[in-house]
Formats: sequence, structure tokens, C-alpha cells
Amino acid sequence: MNIGELKNSVIKDIESRSQQLEELSRKIHDNPETALEEHQAAEWLSGYLEDNGFALERGICKLPTAFWGRYGKGKPTIAILAEYDALPKLGHACGHNLIATSAVAAGVASRIAVDALGGCVAVIGTPGEELTGGKAIMADRGAFDDIDAAMIVHPGGGNRVVMNTLACQTLVVEFLGKAAHSSAEPELGINALEAMIQSYNAINSLRQHIKDGARIHGVITDGGEAANIVPAHTAASFFVRAEDDDYLDVLKEKVIDCFNGAAIATGAELKYKWDDVRYAAMINNMTLARLFQDNMKTLGYDIPLRGDKIWGGSSDVGNVSRLVPTIQPLVSIAAGDVLIHTPEFAVAAKSKDSLQSMLGAAKAMTMTLIDLLSDPDNLNRAREEFGKRK
Ligand SMILES: [Zn+2]
Ligand SMILES: [Zn+2]
Repeated sequence: MNIGELKNSVIKDIESRSQQLEELSRKIHDNPETALEEHQAAEWLSGYLEDNGFALERGICKLPTAFWGRYGKGKPTIAILAEYDALPKLGHACGHNLIATSAVAAGVASRIAVDALGGCVAVIGTPGEELTGGKAIMADRGAFDDIDAAMIVHPGGGNRVVMNTLACQTLVVEFLGKAAHSSAEPELGINALEAMIQSYNAINSLRQHIKDGARIHGVITDGGEAANIVPAHTAASFFVRAEDDDYLDVLKEKVIDCFNGAAIATGAELKYKWDDVRYAAMINNMTLARLFQDNMKTLGYDIPLRGDKIWGGSSDVGNVSRLVPTIQPLVSIAAGDVLIHTPEFAVAAKSKDSLQSMLGAAKAMTMTLIDLLSDPDNLNRAREEFGKRK
């Protein structure tokens, strides 16, 4: 079989499974499970892979809902990543049911390529993208050490091959003051709410002097008890994001300075904790991106490398992109005004058309895997580019 015929066979394989894949996607959508609680979805996905000849390791990296599915024995190993967590209250408003389904569709179709060309395909189940940075934890625990490249596609309101996600770390802050009657003895109180508001305003001032692409945003989660009591305790949650990991470190210090300044000004005691998990900024591998784009074009989807919008959110796919050449193209499943993480997007993530678009991307991922397994030059170029940008 030549490469063209091989690509046609994987396209047909995915089309022939359309009904099964639709049922799988709907089942995950109808039973939303939040970060690290995705027990049913993980079992449905790993079961589907196992039924189709994959060797499965479940509960890897001490995460019960993570898995590693492997087909083939040789090298290189090309990984397709699956996400399947839902958002609290909103269900599948990030469309991870579609990511999961496109991943197993591409993985199972890749068997044809592995049988013909050698190498190995891995479908790696990566839980808890939204709240816990599952891939960051898995990266630290070695889940991606044996792979040579990684691909994942994400649904959205537009099409583009390259997504710039930001480095991100979250922060929980508390101020401890001293309660007092707000009118009778205000001079005896220490106002923890003033400390929080001064911090908030200091961060507002900081924001106009930071680099493009950086983001600092937060909410006050405890603002005090009652208007006639000097607030003795306040708490807030903040996200700090930056274009690259080094600048994130710079920004983290500046943000803490804002809180320290307010602590000195008010006399309230500052307590803070950075989350253990840190989302790395995405390094998009342009060699893989162009191969994916060419394959999408063959399938009739003419999609741009980059979109109009430069900055997105943050994703733990960034942590994988620090280890191996990685891409995470965005695939349109809804009109541009249907925003991700909204109930409207959750509705869109259930439609038949959405799945068809994501299966188009699954075909292109499998065709890209064929490009990598059939011509070592492609993987070498991806590696060389990765080496330069790392
Ligand atoms: Zn999301
Ligand atoms: Zn997402």
C-alpha cells in the first residue's frame, strides 16, 4: 500500500466507526464527570481501545482515571492525547467528550498505519485538565517519557492549527486582621478587607505595566462577616498567566509585592499559597502543525495556521509540549459567538455535526501519524525544531 492508499484506509476506518463513536461521545456528554472523577469515561474509552487490540495500563501515575493504551511494539511512538473531564455545574462546556472520542478514533485507525509501517501508537488518557492540570502531574511522573510526538485536537468557535496557551499558576491568598466594632472601637480593629482591596487595586495598577499576553485576574472569596464588624479575615483566589515561564516567575513576585505592600499598610497578616501544579506555556511544533494543516486540506478543510486572536487561556498540553514535539489544533464546532465554558457550548458539544468536525480532525491526526511513521525525515525535522525552541 502506498502512502495515499494508507491514508484513504484510515479515513474509511474512522467513517465506518461513525455510529459507535457518536454513541461513545454522547455517553460521555450525558454523564459529565469532573476532574479526576472521570471513572466511567476512563473505563468506556480504555475499554473501547482494549476491544480494538490495544494493550492497556489503567490508573497510571497514581491517578485512577489516567490510562496508557498502546498498539505496536517498535519505535517511534506517536501519542494521541485524550481529555474527558467536565466542568462543575456546566457539564461538557469545554467539549472534552469530543476530544476523547476523536483521540480513540485516531488511535484505533492508526493500527492500520502501524501494521503497515511499524512503530507504535499510544492513546494516553489524561484526566483533570480543567482544575488539576492532570498532564502536568503526569509529565512529572514520567507518563510522556517514552513518546516521540504528541497530538490532541480541541473543539472551539474557530479553526486554527496553532494555539498559544499561557503559562499559568494559581494563588490562594488570605489576610488575617482583628475584629472590632466598626463604630464603637474601630481604632482597635485591623481591617483585612482593606488589605484585600488595596492589593486588588495595586494589581490593577501593576496591570498597565506588564507585557502583552500576561494576565492577572482574581475574585474575593471571603470579604468579611457583617458591615458593623471590622473584617478579621478575607480570602481571594488569583490566576497569574504569562507568555513564557520565565516571565511568569517575574510576575509572580510582582503580584506578591502587591499583597505584601497592603499587609504593611494595614497591619493585616498575609498568608498565601501557590498551587503545586503549574501549567506551562505551549510550544507549538510548526513541523507537525504544517503536516496536520496539509492533511486537513486534503480532507477539504482549509484552516489557517494561526487565528486573529493571539492569546488564549492555559492548558496542561503546554507541559507535554516541553517534553516532545506537540500540537493542539483548534477545530470549529460552533459559531464564533458561542463561547467556550458556557452552557451554549455544552449544547454544541453534543451535536452530530460537532462530532463530524472533530472526526475530520481525527482523520488528519492519523494521516499526520502516517507522515511521521512513513518518513523519518518528518520526525527528525520536528525534533530538530523542538531542540531549538526548548
Ligand atoms: Zn476548558
Ligand atoms: Zn478544554
